[in-house]
Amino acid sequence: MDTIGVIGAGQMGAGIAQVSAQAGYRVLLADVSRDRAEAGKAGIGKQLDRLVTKEKIARGDADAALARIEPVDGASAFAPAALVIEAATEREEIKRRIFADVGAVLGAGAILASNTSSIPITRLAQAAPDPARFVGVHFFNPVPVMGLIELIRGLATSDATVAAVEAYAQRLGKQVVRANDAPGFIVNRVLMPMLNEACFALGEGVASIRDIDLACQLGLNHPMGPLTLADFIGLDTCLEITRVLFEGTGDPKFRPAPLLVKYVEAGWFGRKSGRGFYDYSGPEPVPTR
Ligand code: NAD
Repeated sequence: MDTIGVIGAGQMGAGIAQVSAQAGYRVLLADVSRDRAEAGKAGIGKQLDRLVTKEKIARGDADAALARIEPVDGASAFAPAALVIEAATEREEIKRRIFADVGAVLGAGAILASNTSSIPITRLAQAAPDPARFVGVHFFNPVPVMGLIELIRGLATSDATVAAVEAYAQRLGKQVVRANDAPGFIVNRVLMPMLNEACFALGEGVASIRDIDLACQLGLNHPMGPLTLADFIGLDTCLEITRVLFEGTGDPKFRPAPLLVKYVEAGWFGRKSGRGFYDYSGPEPVPTR
């Protein structure tokens, strides 16, 4: 497996393309247009430059990695790929169309994978020509920094597919955890209820934003408090994933906290919108309650 495809050159796709190229793979990179794929490659070039400046990698290795990334246009360009990872916008109809189009041109042994955070792998696999060669590969953000990949098996995913993707992940130097196809997989299943509970605690007046965050940071030895982390991920994203857990399991323990819903309705999405539980307009984040 020497050529892989990455579809979607946004935050995650660019990261996946970068680490794959650094591991020696030739990477075919697509987005909605050739220009967007080129822009994705340019962004990767900047990331690699920063690693060179910080003396994390050699200039020659950065240049060689960048040269292995080839922006492409149209599904047929992916014909030579042994593995194609989709990291496009989190909308099921977009992903289904990609799997149908690209699946039609791939070789008999090639694997299709999705980086989806929330759409069931078994359902997505139905859009691919062979669900046995379909799998979830859930990377974490930022991809070059985070050492984990959740490998999610759909009901029909074959052992050979799992083994091939595990070998790819190992070449990237990432640790793999295997999960079955259940809402939130492992990390979000465990994390989101904690972030949601912090919103309940704040909404019920248990403690202030500062004290909830400081309590978890120092009392649980977490690198950041849950409300800071929720702001960082995006409160809209947290709400969406919590709803996936709630709807996917039907279990009331996953119901979204009313305060989280209100913040999202107010457009207070966290860091990216300038305000969430903290106000980000100044040099330092300031708790809003
Ligand atoms: P993003 O918005 O940064 O990038 C998505 C890219 O997909 C955009 O560049 C967009 O132009 C492109 N795109 C849309 N339709 C396309 C199509 N038909 N063909 C090709 N490209 C298309 O989003 P992102 O954060 O990189 O998320 C991508 C995927 O990764 C989503 O499924 C998301 O759930 C998942 N994910 C995100 C994170 C995260 O923290 N951001 C973490 C893990 C997984």
